[in-house]
Amino acid sequence: MAQTSTIVVVGAGLGGLAGAISLAASGHRVRIFEKNATVGGKLAQLDANGFRFDLGPSLLTLPEVFRELFAEAGADFDAEVPLRRLSTLCRYRFADGSSLDLPDGLEAQTEAIHAFNPAEVESWRRFACWVREVYDAASEPFMRRPFGNTAGMTGAAGQAMLRQLPRVLSPRSLDGIAGRFFADARLRQLVGRFATYNGSTPFRAPATFAIIAHVEHALGAFHPIGGIRRIAEAELALARRLGVDIVTGAHVSEVILRDRRAVGVRLASNDVVEADAVLVNADATTAWERLLPADADPWTRRRLVRAEPSTSALVMVLGLRRPAPHLEHHNVAFSPDSRAEFADLFKRRTAADAPTVYVCASSRTDPSQAPDGCEALFVMVNLPAMSGVEDRDALISHQRERIFERLERAGLGVDASDIVVESFVTPADFASRDGSRDGSLYGPASNSRLHAFWRQPNRSRRVPGLFFAGGGAHPGGGMPLVTLSGRIAADEIRRYLASR
Ligand SMILES: Cc1cc2nc3c(=O)[nH]c(=O)nc-3n(C[C@H](O)[C@H](O)[C@H](O)COP(=O)(O)OP(=O)(O)OC[C@H]3O[C@@H](n4cnc5c(N)ncnc54)[C@H](O)[C@@H]3O)c2cc1C
Repeated sequence: MAQTSTIVVVGAGLGGLAGAISLAASGHRVRIFEKNATVGGKLAQLDANGFRFDLGPSLLTLPEVFRELFAEAGADFDAEVPLRRLSTLCRYRFADGSSLDLPDGLEAQTEAIHAFNPAEVESWRRFACWVREVYDAASEPFMRRPFGNTAGMTGAAGQAMLRQLPRVLSPRSLDGIAGRFFADARLRQLVGRFATYNGSTPFRAPATFAIIAHVEHALGAFHPIGGIRRIAEAELALARRLGVDIVTGAHVSEVILRDRRAVGVRLASNDVVEADAVLVNADATTAWERLLPADADPWTRRRLVRAEPSTSALVMVLGLRRPAPHLEHHNVAFSPDSRAEFADLFKRRTAADAPTVYVCASSRTDPSQAPDGCEALFVMVNLPAMSGVEDRDALISHQRERIFERLERAGLGVDASDIVVESFVTPADFASRDGSRDGSLYGPASNSRLHAFWRQPNRSRRVPGLFFAGGGAHPGGGMPLVTLSGRIAADEIRRYLASR
């Protein structure tokens, strides 16, 4: 009887927590084994000298995804994670010295675009309309349903998905579609940046990625007061209230198969935990390489191992002893040459010579992030997934210099003498902390039109009882998507248990 089934979850990232919450809310016994000392995976945090730095995500979109998860368990997300909707989405600084503060809301945006380049106002409106249509077509069938296996491809949901395929499978790249709307290369660069939200390049990522523009520009950018990690903490508390057993410091070394069916896990301590189903939230590629027998599904294993990984990053957090009023909450100093930047990252597989630099100054809107009169900055540049080839000190000093130079030129610089806290996270740190492949942040890159077909489905095609949720699985990386991933996997597990 499904009611009494035990599900083991490997990893307590947002995908694993979402799956566990959904399953526990429907009456299942759930046990999570997390190798780190704390839950939340990439939502790590550093507290230092009165500053609070998120070390992972900095931009929250689609809060309704979290509201739906909490509501499924009878809880109120907004009561537990108070959100602020940002009135300025981002301060963009371009290499030619021009600047655009993009406000929330289409009307305000068209005014800002008018001041930026009046010739592009109509294009901005047409683009906003087009991305809304694609989002409406793609979000339900491609983000909220299983994909790549029978449950997702058949029935009414499958039919709906097939009807939307021509719209979603545009032959253009993200950069190509941006160029169709905008003659101004700066707006093309602004739209192309959305490919990096999933660790991909705008020159190969499909045009569909433009839906992120709808998500951010029309549906809004949010900040949880107290920091992004608060989401993981609220989910931990909710999971506990639902009776989920959460064991931290517990490294899963093997998913145990019996008669080719997943029946439990082995911990590094050698303890064996039996289960009716196993939900893997650890990176899917790493799981096929390290946790599952090579012959369990050689085709999927080979496909994922060969897949191009999404980007990694260098993160630098800075505590400043002075306010930084020249910064908005989100700030981007663009590279002078996008093509060269992405060729460095994806063709030469090296740090970009002239990188785009992103700065989140969360303390501009959330005083809990820094002591009075101080500023907490999260600075990030994309790097190839490359944890294995890293000389940490050389990487940091090289990148630090470039970051400061780019920010200075963009008018977003900081005075070195104001820095009272400085700390770094490198690709090797991401790889060992999160267990991701070479420190990639979002699972496999989405650098092809058919990327959705190559992701790990939430239900293993070959191994009954084995399920996946998280950035390496359908529907992909980013906090809202991995949360949907966990919920889709939970649905698949319920279906599986009911059919046994
Ligand atoms: C620097 C950075 C910036 C980002 N920016 C944004 C952003 O602005 N907005 C956004 O929405 N998203 C952003 N993301 C992406 C987002 O953080 C991730 O997509 C999401 O949090 C990943 O969740 P996940 O479920 O895949 O689990 P993960 O966070 O990858 O967690 C997996 C968990 O599994 C555990 N684990 C792995 N192997 C084992 C094992 N063998 N045994 C036990 N436990 C194991 C790990 O320790 C980890 O806790 C960013 C990520 C990073 C790193």
